[in-house]
Amino acid sequence: MSATIVDGKAVAAELREEIATQVAALTSDGSPPPSLAVVLCGDDPASAIYVRNKGRAAERAGVRFTLHRPPADSTTDALVALVRALDADETIDGILVQLPLPAQIDPDAVMACITPEKDADGFHPYNFGRLAEGHPAVVAPGTPLGCMELLRRSGVALRGSRAVVIGRSAIVGRPIALMLTNADSTVTICHSRTRDLAETCREADILVAAIGRPRMIDASYVKPGAFVIDVGTTPEDGVVVGDVDRESVEPVAGWLTPVPGGVGPMTIAMLLRNTLALALARRGLARV
Ligand code: NAP
Repeated sequence: MSATIVDGKAVAAELREEIATQVAALTSDGSPPPSLAVVLCGDDPASAIYVRNKGRAAERAGVRFTLHRPPADSTTDALVALVRALDADETIDGILVQLPLPAQIDPDAVMACITPEKDADGFHPYNFGRLAEGHPAVVAPGTPLGCMELLRRSGVALRGSRAVVIGRSAIVGRPIALMLTNADSTVTICHSRTRDLAETCREADILVAAIGRPRMIDASYVKPGAFVIDVGTTPEDGVVVGDVDRESVEPVAGWLTPVPGGVGPMTIAMLLRNTLALALARRGLARV
């Protein structure tokens, strides 16, 4: 057996097309397009690339994108004032503050200025709480949303499945565990203190690796036929490496999301979906 390699690039392109169609329908009567404001502070080259890619994808989908670039030596107060002003601006549907922020800035103080109704990244505690309560949320973090979309579009039965998530961060591990639970999967969350990790992982029909340790997950962690989602992205010698040892896992797994080209492209598509969802909700065209 050899795993089906899940083409996240193709799925993300399909999704962006669908979003563009919905944006076109929304604006066909002259209504303004959904708008996304992004704050990029600092000189982190990776952040600059992520933001550029988000801007391109937004513009292609017809989403209005505005970039705010406060200087790298900005204070927390200055960023708080900027984000509050964006939050109060009626023409803006979604706000994203690109992390990490420079060391002198308190990220919690800045993020707290984004209200749940403009939370394009889905990180706000209210939106996280909706997810944790098992209610549909208007928005949710993009990377786990992208993983769920890859599962759905691959036709995998989630109800009654066993899932193991390795990683318990607020942006990946915990939200995907909640999403899988809400989809009727029975979920185990593992982390650096988990005993017998490989044995636990071998119980999984769906195995999510969100660790940040290149090639850690080999065939000894994988149940034959499992759907293996590799979220990890670690730069190594100029390339991005996942948490899954593809050579070892591919002959055992049923499906495998590759790195690059698996989960990564889905994250931006989900940011656009979040922005559209916020725009529809703010205009009273969808359930809040
Ligand atoms: P994080 O906050 O560092 O969390 C890593 C998790 O892995 C933690 O819960 C940690 O356990 C666990 N862990 C570390 N070593 C382990 C081990 N030996 N055994 C079992 N668990 C272990 O990272 P993150 O933000 O969730 O991101 C995870 C990975 O996904 C990173 O490579 C990141 O770059 C990538 N990522 C990719 C995308 C994308 O768009 N593709 C988006 C976001 C993140 P403890 O809690 O016990 O420390």
